[in-house]
Amino acid sequence: MEDDIFEKIIKREIPADIVYEDNNTIAFLDIRPNNPGHTLVVPKTHARNIFDIDDKTLDSLMHTVRRIAAPIRDAVNADGMNIIINNERAAGQIIFHIHLHLIPRFTDDGLKGWPHKECTPNEASAIAKKIRAKIA
Ligand code: 5GP
Repeated sequence: MEDDIFEKIIKREIPADIVYEDNNTIAFLDIRPNNPGHTLVVPKTHARNIFDIDDKTLDSLMHTVRRIAAPIRDAVNADGMNIIINNERAAGQIIFHIHLHLIPRFTDDGLKGWPHKECTPNEASAIAKKIRAKIA
Protein backbone atom coordinates (compact mmCIF):
# COMPACT_ATOMS: atom_id res chain seq x y z
CA MET A 1 0.00 0.00 0.00
CA GLU A 2 1.26 3.51 -0.79
CA ASP A 3 2.03 5.82 2.14
CA ASP A 4 -1.43 6.59 3.57
CA ILE A 5 -1.49 10.12 4.97
CA PHE A 6 -5.20 9.85 5.86
CA GLU A 7 -4.47 6.84 8.08
CA LYS A 8 -2.08 9.12 9.98
CA ILE A 9 -4.84 11.74 10.39
CA ILE A 10 -7.27 9.06 11.63
CA LYS A 11 -4.67 7.93 14.20
CA ARG A 12 -3.91 11.56 15.17
CA GLU A 13 -0.28 11.10 14.12
CA ILE A 14 -0.49 14.29 12.06
CA PRO A 15 -2.83 17.25 12.61
CA ALA A 16 -5.93 18.12 10.61
CA ASP A 17 -8.85 20.51 10.96
CA ILE A 18 -11.42 17.87 11.85
CA VAL A 19 -15.02 18.98 11.44
CA TYR A 20 -16.86 15.71 12.18
CA GLU A 21 -16.14 12.19 13.37
CA ASP A 22 -18.13 9.07 14.21
CA ASN A 23 -17.31 5.38 14.67
CA ASN A 24 -16.82 4.72 10.96
CA THR A 25 -15.82 8.00 9.34
CA ILE A 26 -13.89 11.22 9.80
CA ALA A 27 -14.18 14.54 7.96
CA PHE A 28 -11.54 17.26 7.85
CA LEU A 29 -10.63 20.29 5.77
CA ASP A 30 -8.56 19.75 2.63
CA ILE A 31 -5.08 21.20 3.12
CA ARG A 32 -5.20 22.79 -0.37
CA PRO A 33 -8.87 23.76 -0.77
CA ASN A 34 -10.54 24.55 -4.09
CA ASN A 35 -12.82 26.86 -2.09
CA PRO A 36 -13.23 27.73 1.61
CA GLY A 37 -14.80 24.82 3.50
CA HIS A 38 -13.50 22.13 1.07
CA THR A 39 -13.87 19.01 3.21
CA LEU A 40 -12.75 15.41 2.79
CA VAL A 41 -14.87 12.54 4.14
CA VAL A 42 -12.81 9.41 4.84
CA PRO A 43 -13.67 5.92 6.16
CA LYS A 44 -11.70 4.69 9.17
CA THR A 45 -11.24 1.30 7.53
CA HIS A 46 -9.04 1.22 4.45
CA ALA A 47 -10.35 1.04 0.90
CA ARG A 48 -8.33 2.26 -2.07
CA ASN A 49 -11.25 3.75 -4.00
CA ILE A 50 -14.70 2.99 -5.47
CA PHE A 51 -13.38 -0.15 -7.17
CA ASP A 52 -12.69 -2.05 -3.93
CA ILE A 53 -14.89 -0.45 -1.24
CA ASP A 54 -17.61 -2.60 0.35
CA ASP A 55 -21.27 -1.50 0.50
CA LYS A 56 -21.32 -1.01 4.27
CA THR A 57 -18.31 1.31 4.27
CA LEU A 58 -19.69 3.28 1.33
CA ASP A 59 -23.03 3.60 3.13
CA SER A 60 -21.27 5.02 6.18
CA LEU A 61 -19.45 7.56 3.99
CA MET A 62 -22.67 8.68 2.33
CA HIS A 63 -24.37 8.94 5.72
CA THR A 64 -21.65 11.34 6.87
CA VAL A 65 -21.83 13.31 3.61
CA ARG A 66 -25.55 13.75 4.12
CA ARG A 67 -25.01 14.79 7.73
CA ILE A 68 -22.39 17.48 7.09
CA ALA A 69 -23.10 18.85 3.58
CA ALA A 70 -25.70 21.46 4.60
CA PRO A 71 -23.79 22.57 7.72
CA ILE A 72 -20.65 23.11 5.60
CA ARG A 73 -22.70 25.04 3.03
CA ASP A 74 -24.21 27.21 5.75
CA ALA A 75 -20.91 27.78 7.57
CA VAL A 76 -19.28 29.33 4.49
CA ASN A 77 -22.46 30.80 2.96
CA ALA A 78 -22.06 28.73 -0.19
CA ASP A 79 -24.59 28.66 -3.03
CA GLY A 80 -24.00 25.00 -3.93
CA MET A 81 -21.60 22.06 -3.54
CA ASN A 82 -19.75 19.54 -5.69
CA ILE A 83 -19.30 16.05 -4.19
CA ILE A 84 -16.57 14.12 -5.97
CA ILE A 85 -14.54 10.92 -5.70
CA ASN A 86 -11.35 10.65 -7.77
CA ASN A 87 -10.63 7.00 -8.54
CA GLU A 88 -7.10 6.06 -9.68
CA ARG A 89 -4.30 8.27 -10.88
CA ALA A 90 -5.85 8.85 -14.32
CA ALA A 91 -8.84 10.43 -12.58
CA GLY A 92 -6.72 12.67 -10.35
CA GLN A 93 -6.48 10.44 -7.27
CA ILE A 94 -3.28 11.16 -5.35
CA ILE A 95 -4.17 9.74 -1.92
CA PHE A 96 -5.04 6.06 -2.22
CA HIS A 97 -7.44 5.88 0.72
CA ILE A 98 -10.92 6.57 -0.58
CA HIS A 99 -12.37 9.98 0.21
CA LEU A 100 -15.19 12.18 -0.95
CA HIS A 101 -14.49 15.82 -1.69
CA LEU A 102 -17.21 18.22 -0.54
CA ILE A 103 -16.43 21.44 -2.40
CA PRO A 104 -18.61 24.43 -1.56
CA ARG A 105 -19.48 26.46 -4.64
CA PHE A 106 -20.23 30.14 -4.97
CA THR A 107 -22.01 31.76 -7.88
CA ASP A 108 -19.37 32.78 -10.44
CA ASP A 109 -16.50 31.43 -8.29
CA GLY A 110 -14.44 30.77 -11.41
CA LEU A 111 -13.95 27.02 -10.90
CA LYS A 112 -14.31 25.55 -14.36
CA GLY A 113 -16.01 22.20 -15.02
CA TRP A 114 -14.82 19.58 -17.47
CA PRO A 115 -15.42 20.18 -21.20
CA HIS A 116 -18.07 18.00 -22.82
CA LYS A 117 -17.16 15.78 -25.78
CA GLU A 118 -19.13 14.92 -28.89
CA CYS A 119 -20.55 11.38 -29.13
CA THR A 120 -22.69 10.07 -31.96
CA PRO A 121 -25.86 8.07 -31.15
CA ASN A 122 -24.17 4.94 -32.56
CA GLU A 123 -21.09 5.39 -30.39
CA ALA A 124 -23.25 5.96 -27.33
CA SER A 125 -25.38 2.88 -27.88
CA ALA A 126 -22.27 0.72 -28.47
CA ILE A 127 -20.74 1.96 -25.20
CA ALA A 128 -24.00 1.45 -23.29
CA LYS A 129 -24.18 -2.13 -24.65
CA LYS A 130 -20.63 -2.86 -23.41
CA ILE A 131 -21.38 -1.42 -19.97
CA ARG A 132 -24.60 -3.45 -19.63
CA ALA A 133 -22.66 -6.61 -20.51
CA LYS A 134 -20.04 -5.84 -17.83
CA ILE A 135 -22.72 -5.18 -15.17
CA ALA A 136 -24.57 -8.43 -15.95
P1 5GP B 1 -7.33 13.23 -4.46
O1 5GP B 1 -6.69 13.94 -5.62
O2 5GP B 1 -6.57 11.99 -4.04
O3 5GP B 1 -8.79 12.96 -4.70
O4 5GP B 1 -7.33 14.27 -3.28
C1 5GP B 1 -6.44 14.25 -2.22
C2 5GP B 1 -6.67 15.54 -1.46
O5 5GP B 1 -6.01 15.44 -0.22
C3 5GP B 1 -6.08 16.78 -2.17
O6 5GP B 1 -7.12 17.72 -2.44
C4 5GP B 1 -5.07 17.32 -1.18
O7 5GP B 1 -5.04 18.72 -1.11
C5 5GP B 1 -5.49 16.69 0.13
N1 5GP B 1 -4.38 16.43 1.05
C6 5GP B 1 -3.19 15.86 0.73
N2 5GP B 1 -2.43 15.74 1.83
C7 5GP B 1 -3.16 16.23 2.87
C8 5GP B 1 -2.91 16.37 4.27
O8 5GP B 1 -1.86 16.02 4.78
N3 5GP B 1 -3.91 16.91 5.01
C9 5GP B 1 -5.10 17.31 4.47
N4 5GP B 1 -6.00 17.83 5.30
N5 5GP B 1 -5.37 17.19 3.16
C10 5GP B 1 -4.41 16.65 2.36
